[in-house]
Amino acid sequence: MKGTVDMGNIISFDGIVSIDDDSLSMSNGLTDVLIDYLLISGSELAESESEKRMIVFLAEKQQTIIGMGNVDFDILEMPWQTNTFSADKAFLLKVISYARLLSLQKGIEDKLGYKPNQEHIEYALNGFETLINRITVNDINENNLNEWISGAEIDDPIYCGFPKCRKHNVILSHFGCKLCNDGA
Ligand SMILES: [Zn+2]
Repeated sequence: MKGTVDMGNIISFDGIVSIDDDSLSMSNGLTDVLIDYLLISGSELAESESEKRMIVFLAEKQQTIIGMGNVDFDILEMPWQTNTFSADKAFLLKVISYARLLSLQKGIEDKLGYKPNQEHIEYALNGFETLINRITVNDINENNLNEWISGAEIDDPIYCGFPKCRKHNVILSHFGCKLCNDGA
């Protein structure tokens, strides 16, 4: 069930998780809620290629395809690059703020087909914001970007102009539209 609290996925800063660090621990349902909101918000706001890549990275976190509880990731493995770092970090913080705004609007429920618990989505957005706030340009390992890019097939959305779902207007990953796959 969406938005219920049980152990599911962890978004950590660097892949290391301890009980008192700032890792964001969420139920499978809440993980989906967070990704859905970031995806809808980010698809609307992304303009540059590096911004769109960030959203594709998030759009790949599809438990319906990969399996429940299988979408843990860490902030450092996101497709950061040195030359656009400041803009990309500012972009993601804007995506979080806009997602927060969307969570208070009624229209979003129709698009998603569910109504998330407001406290839970706040918790997830705040936790993700804390992690994004923490990253500095010195933390970036561009090998992660290169690995992610070289792992993409030739027909991957990152090579095809970042198409969006016609129904949901969200950026696709190589799994297709997350919202379509989730039956939204
Ligand atoms: Zn769709």
